[in-house]
Amino acid sequence: MLIAIPKEIMPEEKRVAAIPETVAKLVKLGYKVAVESTAGDGIFFSDEEYKNAGAEIVTDVQTLYAKADIVLKVKEPKFNEKLGKHEIEIMKDKCILVTFLHPAAPSNHKNIKMIRDKGITSLTMDGIPRTSKAQKMDALTSMSTVTGYKSVLLAANHLAKFVPMITTGIGTVKPAKVLIVGVGVVGLQAVATAKRLGGIVSAVDIRAKAKEEAMSLGAKIEGFDVPEEVSTGKWGYAKALPTDWLNKERELLKPLIQDVDIIILSALVPGEVAPILLTDEMVASMKPGSVIVDVAIDQGGNCAVTDAGKVVCKHGVTINGLQNIPGRMAVHSTWLYANNMYNYVENLFKNGLGVIDFEDEIVKNSLVTHEGKIVHEGTLKALGEVH
Ligand code: NAD
Repeated sequence: MLIAIPKEIMPEEKRVAAIPETVAKLVKLGYKVAVESTAGDGIFFSDEEYKNAGAEIVTDVQTLYAKADIVLKVKEPKFNEKLGKHEIEIMKDKCILVTFLHPAAPSNHKNIKMIRDKGITSLTMDGIPRTSKAQKMDALTSMSTVTGYKSVLLAANHLAKFVPMITTGIGTVKPAKVLIVGVGVVGLQAVATAKRLGGIVSAVDIRAKAKEEAMSLGAKIEGFDVPEEVSTGKWGYAKALPTDWLNKERELLKPLIQDVDIIILSALVPGEVAPILLTDEMVASMKPGSVIVDVAIDQGGNCAVTDAGKVVCKHGVTINGLQNIPGRMAVHSTWLYANNMYNYVENLFKNGLGVIDFEDEIVKNSLVTHEGKIVHEGTLKALGEVH
């Protein structure tokens, strides 16, 4: 039973699905592991180190995929420009694929259908439920932690000011004011990072629990008590606010955004497009030189003028809409992801080498395709095949 670890081909993607430490653990479980040559370059692991951990190093990616019973990846499969072939095309029929697939997103539906038609059993890392048993496999939380931290550093880098209070011979520089909108996993890490940098931090969220957590990290809570039945749905997650409440929230934000230097936008509703909380007019009212980092951009963004994948300047405000922030901090993102992946694989095949435990709750939630069928509920809904 051979597990393949290919090099990721998305531009600027340096993460890998395994590090030498987790390769050694997979080998110990009884798997053969093959790693594509130079896969670890972006995280400073050499082929030699993977080899010493027990992996075979394969230079030709088509050879690697051709012999893989199980493929472990980070990003969804893509068209490989160098080969002129799609990654799915070069996978073995009926192999097992574990990666982030974001299968409900319309941009990935073509992928999912190709995977289905090849009889591949696919499992998505973003389908892992947020239960305590699954915590050590929870790659979404791991990547959100990186995103929250890095978003504040990106903002501080754009800002032509100090973040902390600085005392100089000329006088005292006031600390920067940072507003975090949406304090889930990303936002809470952003609060903690901005506090460590010495900023004055405030936060807005619609869920009472999120506000409590942000307050315990030292943020001033602004706002805005939304009744629980309006703000909070299944499993304590946020619900999409109705228009009248969204309008109230924008009114609340108007004076706040004029007073801050940095805004981190991370307000999300599971499975839905992100709410637009800042309009073009609101951005125009901000202090010139201030910075917005819109990390909600993968779900459409919280700011109407964010340009996906770009850093732009509008009305004197820098708006960062960069995507794949975890890929920009690849060493620790990979360390977290590779360990989440190992724990997931260990649980997935607990009944034997390559034998999937289809009765397991974590597996059921993350299974996307099997035996030529799409079985993932969210994807079927998005495809209009279930109501
Ligand atoms: P998320 O990414 O879905 O949303 C981010 C935040 O945006 C949430 O706090 C949400 O309330 C907020 N939000 C939504 N609409 C908003 C609006 N209009 N204005 C302002 N804020 C808005 O959330 P997440 O990071 O995935 O985490 C959600 C919850 O799940 C958290 O309470 C977290 O503690 C919990 N969680 C539990 C586990 C576990 O038990 N293993 C793991 C991860 C997260």
